[in-house]
Amino acid sequence: MVKVPRSHPRYLSLKMREALVEGVEEGITSKAGLIAHGRGEMFDYLLGEESIKTAKIAERKAIAEMVDAENPVISINGNVAALVPEEIVQLGKRLDAKLEVNLFHRTDERISKIKRSLELNGAEKVYGLDPEEEIPGLDHKRALCSHEGIYTSDVVLVPLEDGDRAQALKDMGKTVITIDLNPLSRTSKAADITIVDNIVRAVPNMIEFEPLHEDFDNEENLKGTLLFMSERLKTLSEEI
Ligand code: ATP
Ligand code: MG
Repeated sequence: MVKVPRSHPRYLSLKMREALVEGVEEGITSKAGLIAHGRGEMFDYLLGEESIKTAKIAERKAIAEMVDAENPVISINGNVAALVPEEIVQLGKRLDAKLEVNLFHRTDERISKIKRSLELNGAEKVYGLDPEEEIPGLDHKRALCSHEGIYTSDVVLVPLEDGDRAQALKDMGKTVITIDLNPLSRTSKAADITIVDNIVRAVPNMIEFEPLHEDFDNEENLKGTLLFMSERLKTLSEEI
């Protein structure tokens, strides 16, 4: 692969693409994951590629919910594993949360590879390879999950999740937290806490930030994010 020079103005963005292409080559990330990333990148442009205030508030509230949970679980897919393999393991340790590989385009081979990669990054136990349960309301393959992990979780962090699955987890009565750059996605709307931030910034923030114990209104926070994006577009239009 061509090495991205550090001086390149889009260095970080290109590094992310490189990590995802490598993920596909290693059998960790699906091809559809590349397209999902492209959709995310577009929204990151509108944020100015930084963690905005509403994102930081949601990140802090998410930490509080996970720490207070009885059985907090972090769901990991092929994009998460390619972009933040080390950091997601550290976050699991900080929050005392279980890690479960849960794929939209599920194959046992991909799950094993992701599991191995997480273990190489320090994970002690990774759930998801032998799922005993199904999330009600989804077709069989997309519904599979482990009993000790997602199925019995009370608070679940599902970064870069599909809308149907996020809604199905909500319908099970769980507190659903997502990291999703698109504030308009069905997942963003279904979640109890929506972190509109790039996962490569959100996870390191969540390793460091202090929990937020004050009240939090997800709809208000999402509105704030959309307003930020529209005001930023207005400012940019005046600079042209
Ligand atoms: P939904 O199913 O929730 O309506 P969707 O079908 O548009 O959303 P999916 O492919 O199901 O999208 O979910 C992936 C989501 O992850 C997208 O909303 C995309 O914006 C977001 N995303 C992609 N890459 C990143 C990233 N690096 N950080 C945060 N979010 C990302
Ligand atoms: Mg979707």
